[in-house]
Amino acid sequence: MSENVLEADYLVVGTGAVGMAFADILLSESDATIIMVDRYAKPGGHWNAAYPFVQLHQPSQFYGVSSRELSRGRLEHGGLNDGLNELASGAEVSAYFDDVMRHEFLPTGRLQYFPMCDYLGDGRFVSKVGGDEYRVTVRKKIVDATFLKTKVPSTHTPNFAIDEGVRFMPLNDLPKITEQPERYVIVGGGKTGIDACLWLLQMGCNPDRIQWIRPRDAWLLNRRNTQPTEEFFFDVFNAQAGLMESAAAADSFDDLFTKLEDCGYFVRIDENHKPEMFHGATVSIAELETLRTIKDVVRLGRITHLGTDKIEFQRGSLSVSDNTLFVDCSARPVDNLPDLPIFAGDVITPQMVRSYQPVFSAALIAHVELSYEGDEEKNRLCAVVPPPEADTVFAHCTATSFTNQYNWSQDADLSEWILHNRLDGFSQMVKTAEGNPEKTAVLERMRSNAVAAVMNLIKLDQEYKQAEAS
Ligand SMILES: Cc1cc2nc3c(=O)[nH]c(=O)nc-3n(C[C@H](O)[C@H](O)[C@H](O)COP(=O)(O)OP(=O)(O)OC[C@H]3O[C@@H](n4cnc5c(N)ncnc54)[C@H](O)[C@@H]3O)c2cc1C
Repeated sequence: MSENVLEADYLVVGTGAVGMAFADILLSESDATIIMVDRYAKPGGHWNAAYPFVQLHQPSQFYGVSSRELSRGRLEHGGLNDGLNELASGAEVSAYFDDVMRHEFLPTGRLQYFPMCDYLGDGRFVSKVGGDEYRVTVRKKIVDATFLKTKVPSTHTPNFAIDEGVRFMPLNDLPKITEQPERYVIVGGGKTGIDACLWLLQMGCNPDRIQWIRPRDAWLLNRRNTQPTEEFFFDVFNAQAGLMESAAAADSFDDLFTKLEDCGYFVRIDENHKPEMFHGATVSIAELETLRTIKDVVRLGRITHLGTDKIEFQRGSLSVSDNTLFVDCSARPVDNLPDLPIFAGDVITPQMVRSYQPVFSAALIAHVELSYEGDEEKNRLCAVVPPPEADTVFAHCTATSFTNQYNWSQDADLSEWILHNRLDGFSQMVKTAEGNPEKTAVLERMRSNAVAAVMNLIKLDQEYKQAEAS
């Protein structure tokens, strides 16, 4: 096959949400030329392989690329997200990114898009369809927007043995069932497991027919506190003030989580069972109450072997009743990521710089790339907030996110950029507090606790790491 030589300022590998949000800023804030490469036939990354009933779990307002709104500014009526801002469906998200590519990016004439291509490293990629190889002379930087390696049920292989004859399927296939089982067993306690249970219950499945294998429970965020519109001002900022106050006053991780639950920042499905994981997933209170109708919850650790008549776990076993369907929700979306700086010579590896906000983070990193000099200064403004995994990472993530926020606030240009970037959900809301004593009082609770919160989170994190090491 022939090798084609191309040239561009930036080579962006990955057209998922992160690559798209990054390229969008390069296009709107510079005259750079860009080549984008992806294995998928369409932009949108993991949304191409998502289960049919997937939705965003955070409001649509702060998802997508900066230059194009995804939300239509509607509240949802009815359903489990009643009264809250809309959550785009997976199909909407995919259509959105496709539209952005075709009608925003490509018409600039400065971006070339190579779908269905495998990136091989060193600026080289190969077409999965035609086999042609390409080599890119990159004048500025390579942007590795594949770092998160988001796993979804359809692209995941379970890490336990499954005997022949077991009726087992990824969540993607659940809406295709033709033969109704007696019993549904949902394997996985994360957000995907939550989505599977909610879907079954909404489709009319009796909760007594669902068994939920939840090796670990999760701390969850109350979605009401993530709403970026003014009517939710007090929900959002009371929760943030509660976070600051709890972080400033806690004397241990346990105490921190207790305080965070008491102030309404965190919620959990089972109030009698202490969660051990935190992935930043949000739920509405209606979803939480619906999930609580499932009583058959199995907490014997992870499955090690799935047989036709027995499930073996890390801590025991259970018999399998006749006519059972297992639904795989065991993919961990983000796993085993190495420690890498975001800016390192001629490679940029976008990661989160604000908790739970991968696309805002990508946009901000692109802006920093264009507007600041030197990797040291760029990395100072863009300290990595690792994706939360265990609950014990929460203190480190939150302290880093707050520290970034403080550093940005000390830079007038960057503060102004954030204020006008649509992916920043909350700066505009803060503005609405001017001249309003009640709102100002809530913000003051945040500000007056901010420094103590960061210092104490760092201390708790260090104490925890020392205890683990000894
Ligand atoms: C179900 C679900 C719901 C979510 N909801 C929200 C939400 O409401 N709000 C929010 O902020 N976040 C949400 N997230 C998280 C967020 O969507 C993801 O973190 C984000 O979309 C990840 O984007 P990404 O571009 O990093 O990764 P991906 O979407 O995985 O994109 C990476 C791309 O890189 C490509 N790629 C990888 N390796 C190569 C290679 N060698 N050659 C070519 N191409 C390659 C892949 O094909 C893929 O297209 C959600 C995540 C999931 C799973």
